[in-house]
Amino acid sequence: MFVVMAAGASEAEVLGVKSRILAEGLTPYDHAGVDRVVIAVVGEIGSRKPVLLDRLAALPGVEAVTPISRPFKLTSREFHPEDTVIRVLDAVVGDGSLTVMAGPCSVESRDQLFETADAVKAAGATILRGGAFKPRTSPYAFQGLGVEALRYLAEARERTGLPVITEVMEPSQVDIVAEYADILQIGTRNMQNYSLLRDVGRVARPVMLKRGYGATVEEWLMAAEYIVSSGNPNVILCERGIRTFETYTRNTLDLSAVPLVHHLTHLPVIVDPSHATGKRWLVTPLAISGVAVGADGIMVEVHPTPDDALSDAEQQLTLDQFRDMMAAVTPVHALVASRRRQPIAAGSVGNGGGLSKH
Ligand code: PEP
Ligand code: MN
Repeated sequence: MFVVMAAGASEAEVLGVKSRILAEGLTPYDHAGVDRVVIAVVGEIGSRKPVLLDRLAALPGVEAVTPISRPFKLTSREFHPEDTVIRVLDAVVGDGSLTVMAGPCSVESRDQLFETADAVKAAGATILRGGAFKPRTSPYAFQGLGVEALRYLAEARERTGLPVITEVMEPSQVDIVAEYADILQIGTRNMQNYSLLRDVGRVARPVMLKRGYGATVEEWLMAAEYIVSSGNPNVILCERGIRTFETYTRNTLDLSAVPLVHHLTHLPVIVDPSHATGKRWLVTPLAISGVAVGADGIMVEVHPTPDDALSDAEQQLTLDQFRDMMAAVTPVHALVASRRRQPIAAGSVGNGGGLSKH
C-alpha cells in the first residue's frame, strides 16, 4: 500500500508515518514528488491490511492510504509519477532526448573497439557498448576478453568521452565491472538471477535490465523491483525481443511493451533491434519503430567488419550502416519527442486495471 502525505505535511509527520510502518515490521520507502511525499509500505502485510490501512490513515499529515494490487511498488507510476531521469557522465537517459547505445557485440581487440567507438561517436551515439563477459549459448564459442576488454572500454571512454556499458554475468563480477564501466548490463538470460539483481542493486552505477526472452512484462518489472528495493533507483529497461514461434527472426520485438512499460513504470526503456531480429537488414526499420513508439533510446551492435565478428556476426551493422541508421532515426525522434510526454487517455491496461496517470 501507499501512504500519500498531505501537500504541506511536515518532515516530522513523514518520520512519524515511517516509524509506525517500521514498528509494524514493514519497510517504508519514501519518494518526494513535485508537491507531496508518497511512502510505499513494503513487506508481508497479509490479513493486517484493513487494520493497518485505518491506523496509517489516522496519523497526522496523512491524506490518503491506498491499497495497491500490483506486485511492483517502487517501480510503479503510482509511487513515482515523474519519469526517472538517469545522468551518466554527459549522457542523460529518460529526459526526452534520444539515447543511442552503440558498439560491438564483443570487444575483440583495442583497435576494433577504438575504430568502432570513434565512428559511433562521430555519428551521434551517446553511450558506447561492448561485451567483455559474453553469455554464449555454446560453451565452445568465444566467451569474451573479460578484464582485458574492461580496460579497453575504460580507455575508449577516455578517448571519446562516451560512458560505457557492459554486461555483468555473475555476482562475483559485479565489483570489477563497476570499477571500469559506467552502466552495468544484465542480460536476458540473467533477468531472474535474483542474487545478481540484489548485488547490482548495491552498487553506485546505473543498471540496464534486459527483458528475459521468456518473461512477461510483470516479471520484468518485478526483476527491476529487486534492483530498486536493494538501493539502486537508476534502472533502465531494455526490450530486446521475446521468443515466439517465429523462426525468421532471432526473437520477436515486442514493441507494445514500450508504451505499456511507460504507462506502468517511471523507468526509461530502450529498444535493442539487434538481438530482437538477429539480421543486419532488419535493424534500422526496427530501430525506427522503437523510437516511433516512444522508446527513450536504442541499443545497436556495430562492428568495423561484421562478417569477421567473433559473436553475432549476422546482426551487427557496419560503420556506414550505423551512420545511415542515425540519419533515419533522428527525424523520427524529433517528430515523436513533442508528443511523448502527453498523457495517454485514461483506460484499462489489463492485468489489474487502469491507472489514472500517464
Ligand atoms: C548483449 O547485449 O550483448 C546480449 C548478450 O544481449 P541479450 O542479453 O539481450 O541476449
Ligand atoms: Mn550480441
